[in-house]
This record gives sequence, structure tokens and C-alpha cells, in this order.
Amino acid sequence: MKKAIKLPQKAIDILSVYWCYLGVPLDEINFLHFGNMLDMYITRRAVIPHHTSHEISMTFMERFYELGGEAWFNCRAEEFLFDGDHICGVKTSLGTVECKQVLANINPDIIYAKMMPKELVPEREKKLSAARNHNYSARMFVCYFALNKTAEELGIKDYTVFFPGTSDTRKEFESFRHIDTNEFTILLCYNTLIPDFSPEGTCVCSFTSMFGPDDWNDVKPEDYFKLKDKIAKKCLKTMKEKYGVDIEPYIEEVEIATPMTFARYLGTPEGSTYGYDLGGWDAMLARMMQIPEEFPIKGLRHIGAASFRGDGYSSTWINGDMCAAMACSELKEGGNK
Ligand SMILES: Cc1cc2nc3c(=O)[nH]c(=O)nc-3n(C[C@H](O)[C@H](O)[C@H](O)COP(=O)(O)OP(=O)(O)OC[C@H]3O[C@@H](n4cnc5c(N)ncnc54)[C@H](O)[C@@H]3O)c2cc1C
Repeated sequence: MKKAIKLPQKAIDILSVYWCYLGVPLDEINFLHFGNMLDMYITRRAVIPHHTSHEISMTFMERFYELGGEAWFNCRAEEFLFDGDHICGVKTSLGTVECKQVLANINPDIIYAKMMPKELVPEREKKLSAARNHNYSARMFVCYFALNKTAEELGIKDYTVFFPGTSDTRKEFESFRHIDTNEFTILLCYNTLIPDFSPEGTCVCSFTSMFGPDDWNDVKPEDYFKLKDKIAKKCLKTMKEKYGVDIEPYIEEVEIATPMTFARYLGTPEGSTYGYDLGGWDAMLARMMQIPEEFPIKGLRHIGAASFRGDGYSSTWINGDMCAAMACSELKEGGNK
């Protein structure tokens, strides 16, 4: 970026903080993808829903119901059923659904390895799955603190503050590999923009950090809770040192999510949240150039962060919308046969 468009280093340092939204260090990220994300963020501006991103999901659901949709919650899709080489249903924890088209918000590694007959997985998909990695696919650590003072009383004026360990994104990524070397965290204080986010006289802060693929696999069950506390305390210390506000004495409630929590609730490999790496040969543009080849199994399309648009709310919605249009078009033509 610096060499090609001659941006001053200070500008690069400012813009580069957003690298963590895609997870790929700036020396490898596809410029168009990063530029598009930054452009959307800066020129079209970010939206902060009153009731967090959950509100967006609920709004989608309301519209889905209005249009006659039916949703089953607490229901796991377990197996894709086939009639010959085309999909004919999904076995779930609440029963079997017959269908001609499936949009699966599930990582293809899991679909191919656990949810369908092995002989129906195309050779190309096996190779692709083996070639694609989750190294850059943030394994998130999030700790929430409910405080018995207002943001104003504590001196917190900002909604979000990034605390990178370094402005060198490659070094930062390398530091994510080890729990002890990771200095990166992002502070959010919801009440600064949403005053009634919590009861009067209180506020809520959260910290988000990201980790690489190595250390969390070695955490022993007996060390897990101590480790959660240790990282949460490090976030508090970072805020105190870099932002000058000590919230520790005012904590009433704490909730912590680790990569293990994300793995449990989302079912993604190692709890990674950004899908397959978006660096090098497999960036968004390369994937979009070959959308039909991405879905070679008749009637089955994987959507979500591991699909062609990569991670981020807006990307996954657009991705889902495009896949739904493809599925509807095939249905109109008579299904998937
Ligand atoms: C802490 C944090 C903060 C973030 N902040 C932002 C942000 O501010 N802006 C932004 O754009 N992005 C943000 N992201 C990224 C964003 O959340 C993801 O890119 C996006 O949610 C990915 O969408 P998805 O549909 O792939 O996965 P998800 O949103 O995780 O949805 C997948 C769903 O499928 C369910 N599922 C999986 N397997 C099965 C199965 N077999 N049967 C039934 N259900 C199943 C999971 O339980 C989950 O509910 C954030 C991520 C994290 C972790």
C-alpha cells in the first residue's frame, strides 16, 4: 500500500488498525478487499444497533416470519441426505426436513468430513478443503464487565478504542500465536453511544482480543479458568496504562468467552470466526471469480464467513442473499436436477 500509492506511514498506521476485521496482515491482504472494507466503513459509516448485533438478527427473523418463514431454534443440522448425487433433505436433532435446496451456514470442512457421504465429496473439494487454512481466522476472546459507575464518572468518552501491541500487522499477527505475547485488545463502552444500555448509574465495557491457531489447543482443563482470568486482567491493565482509566474497582459482573466458547456455540474449527484465510491465492475476489465452482454439490451451498465473501456481517448477508437467489432460481427451474 505504501509503495503503490505513497501514503505516509502515519496514515498507514491509522488505517491499518482495521486489519483485524479481516485477520490477514497488511503485507498479504488483497488490497481491493481491504480497500472495499475500509471504504464501506468510512464513507458509508458503521451502524451500532441499540440492542447489539442481536437486534439485527431479530429484525431479519421478524421479516422472515412476515414472509411465511418457519425457524427451528435449538436445532442442530446433523446430516445431509442425498438422492443419487443431489440433495433431498437434512436430518436434524428435531427431525428430518425434505428439501431440494440447502443453504448451510456451516464450515465446509465439517460438511464434507462429518455431514455427508464421503463418496459424494468431489475430489476438488477435498483438495480445496485441505489447502484452505484457518490460520488468520480470529479465535476470539471477549470479556464483558458490568460496572457500578457511569461511563462519564469513569472518564470513558469513546465507544471503541483499539489498543494494538504494535502498528506492524505482521508482527501483531505473530504475537497472536502465543497467549503470553498477545498485547492486542479492543475496548468497547456501549453506554457512550447507547445511554440506556444498562441501568442508570452503571455502564458496560467489553474487550475483544484475537488469537492464532497454536496455544489454545494446549490449554489444560485445570488451567482454563485461571487463564480466562489472566487474560481478562491483562485487558484491564492495558486500559489502565494506555487509556488512563482503571475500571477494576467498579466491576459488578464479568462474563468471558474464549475460542472454546465460540467453538462450542458456533461449531467452527477451533472456534475461529472468520472462516477460511482470506490471504494469498484465496482472497474474496479469487473466490468470487469462480462462484459456480465453489458449490459443486447439487442443491447444497455453504454460506457464512467460510463462503466466498469472507467474514463480517454485511459480507455474510450479501453472500447469503446471493446464494438464496441462486437456490430460488434453480427451484424455479424445477429443483436441483
Ligand atoms: C466478538 C466479535 C465481534 C465482532 N464484531 C463484528 C462487527 O462489529 N462487525 C462485523 O461486521 N463483524 C463482526 N464480527 C464478525 C461477525 O460476527 C462474523 O463475520 C459473522 O457473524 C459470520 O457470520 P456467519 O453466518 O458465518 O456465522 P455466525 O454468525 O456464527 O452464524 C452461524 C450460525 O450457525 C449455527 N450453526 C453452526 N453449525 C450448525 C448446525 N450444524 N446446525 C444448526 N446451526 C448451526 C451457529 O450456531 C451460528 O448461530 C465479530 C465477531 C466476533 C466474534
